[in-house]
Amino acid sequence: MAVAMDEETVCAFADGTEAIEGRILLDGGAVIEAGSESRGIGGLVRDGSGTARGVRVQVVGRELTAECDGACAPTSGRLCRHAVALALHAVERRLPWHATPADDARRAPGEALGALTAVEKAAVLDRLLDTRPELHAEADRLALRVLDPRTRAELTDLQERIAVEVENALRTLDAGQLSTGHRPGLGYTDVHEAASRLIEPVVERYEADVRRRLEWGMPDAAEAVALGVLDGLDACEGGHDGDEVLCHAGEDLAETYGYTIRELRHTAGRAVE
Ligand SMILES: [Zn+2]
Repeated sequence: MAVAMDEETVCAFADGTEAIEGRILLDGGAVIEAGSESRGIGGLVRDGSGTARGVRVQVVGRELTAECDGACAPTSGRLCRHAVALALHAVERRLPWHATPADDARRAPGEALGALTAVEKAAVLDRLLDTRPELHAEADRLALRVLDPRTRAELTDLQERIAVEVENALRTLDAGQLSTGHRPGLGYTDVHEAASRLIEPVVERYEADVRRRLEWGMPDAAEAVALGVLDGLDACEGGHDGDEVLCHAGEDLAETYGYTIRELRHTAGRAVE
């Protein structure tokens, strides 16, 4: 992608002397060749002795960095006079400056939050509340809203999201983990039982979520999670390819694995289907 470049930016990456000498070289016609490259500008610049130096100025992340085959050996983020002359020449001739998209993505300011995982976002929240304790009440209010959505649309969203999560989790169980056969002290495990051992922990995670919301006095939210789990189990019926653990799980998963979920709904005073 193209980046905007101007004299001020170029000079910000050069020490004062190099910026002034670069301007003098440019005005003296020292830049004898210049062109856009995939990540910046490359060209030839004559030094004080008249020798042509191969110079390259690149956009790396949010910095300009230079290569020069003169004796100047510019360090990262600092331009030598030849690089300044070349860069200013490119600015004045309006040569396009390119940066690879990866460079831009690497340090786009203000967009880092969107790049975080859920766990990293949680760490940000903790740190934010440590430094700004006055935000605690507001954060707590939002937490309550997440745990206990109130509108019909939000509850439906929660139910649908849980159904998709459960279906995905069960369909992506690793058939390589099915352990069958005779084990000392445990007897013989058939493939159906082995599948159950993989499916049950997935469902149990959601049972824990239903219990948590019930304990917090959030029966509507608990109900939405419970229904989502049953929907997710229903959605796993049929259409398995041969590699899925679900191939060995038997018929009517909601009946087999939804028992505790249905019990919890019963406890919460909800209709049992
Ligand atoms: Zn140089």
